[in-house]
Amino acid sequence: MRTLVTAARLWSAEGIVENPVIEIEDNRIAAITRTKESWATPAHNFPGATLCPAFFDVHFHGAAGHDVMEAKPEALQPIGALLARHGTARYLATTVTAPLDATLRAVSGLARLIANPASLQSGKQPIARPVGIHLEGPFLSHEKKGVQPAEHLRTPDIAVFDRLYEAAEGHLHLITLAPELPGAAELAAHATARGVRVSMGHSNATAVETQAVLNAGAASATHTFNAMRPLDHREPGILGLVLTQDQLYAELICDGIHVAPDMVRLWWKAKGEQRGILVTDAMSATGMPDGEYQLGGFAVQVANGRAMARGVLAGSVLTQDRALTNFLEFTGAPLEKALRLLTTNPVEMIGMTAALAEGSPADLVAIDADGRLLASMIEGRLAKI
Ligand SMILES: [Zn+2]
Repeated sequence: MRTLVTAARLWSAEGIVENPVIEIEDNRIAAITRTKESWATPAHNFPGATLCPAFFDVHFHGAAGHDVMEAKPEALQPIGALLARHGTARYLATTVTAPLDATLRAVSGLARLIANPASLQSGKQPIARPVGIHLEGPFLSHEKKGVQPAEHLRTPDIAVFDRLYEAAEGHLHLITLAPELPGAAELAAHATARGVRVSMGHSNATAVETQAVLNAGAASATHTFNAMRPLDHREPGILGLVLTQDQLYAELICDGIHVAPDMVRLWWKAKGEQRGILVTDAMSATGMPDGEYQLGGFAVQVANGRAMARGVLAGSVLTQDRALTNFLEFTGAPLEKALRLLTTNPVEMIGMTAALAEGSPADLVAIDADGRLLASMIEGRLAKI
């Protein structure tokens, strides 16, 4: 069956199309035109709205009461259904530091599900899909571990990395690494050579230590400002380089809790529309009432939008549609620049594509002039907002 979607404009990295008509067939985009050829076909019409590729989250742990490390359809289906309602079509399933055998089990379970997305479908429901794995740990700093359990942190070890890489069967796309650890630069070069992007974070690194890992190929920074040595004018540290090295992408958790609005504006001025990435770092309580939840293997208390464990922030309950409206409110950035931070930039950082083009999956969102999500479509299926 052929479905038409129309709106005021279509935004993508390639530019803007006014009055677009997107034709969808078999869950894929069959054509993008500007003429309404047939109103006999069912149409979803969003007058005044902007259509753009659905969002991509490179740092995501869980939602709907489940953690991605459960690595089974019973967890990833409700997670994917919740994400679909918030405009996210694809994500990197992100691990937290855990015993190595538990991480290996989660990674190989996730790899099987990523390779077989049909196993995550349930009826006609739109489901966001994991398209790769992000290892947040175990090679992180003790000083800036946040809630990552200290007893399972490790110094960089290529043999351990290779076991995780093999378990991921080609689906490991990103690893967060603290640059100051011994062997970090060697591991960064090794991971990069295997096609795994390195994101610097959970780190107390000096500028010199950071530069060495940048030289080894680091591509991004993990939740800028959070679990990161603060800025100092004599020792710029990791943050000084993250904010000034133009080639480096940088994540931000824009929930108004992890980073103050003034610092969101600083990050925006520094990284801009080419290198900023809005992530959620969402954990299992996302989309759920206040209470006690799990992140990886430990308990987290959630109250009033704040997820805490042992007195520190433990991930977020943020969704990407909310990250967008927060970001627009905090910065006053124009919508067409902000959209890159949830679509083109994360996708390009890990080397995938975000184009809305003929033949690509019909993953798109409709956004109003204030950045609010009006509709979310995953593989041609409209989610209830
Ligand atoms: Zn995280």
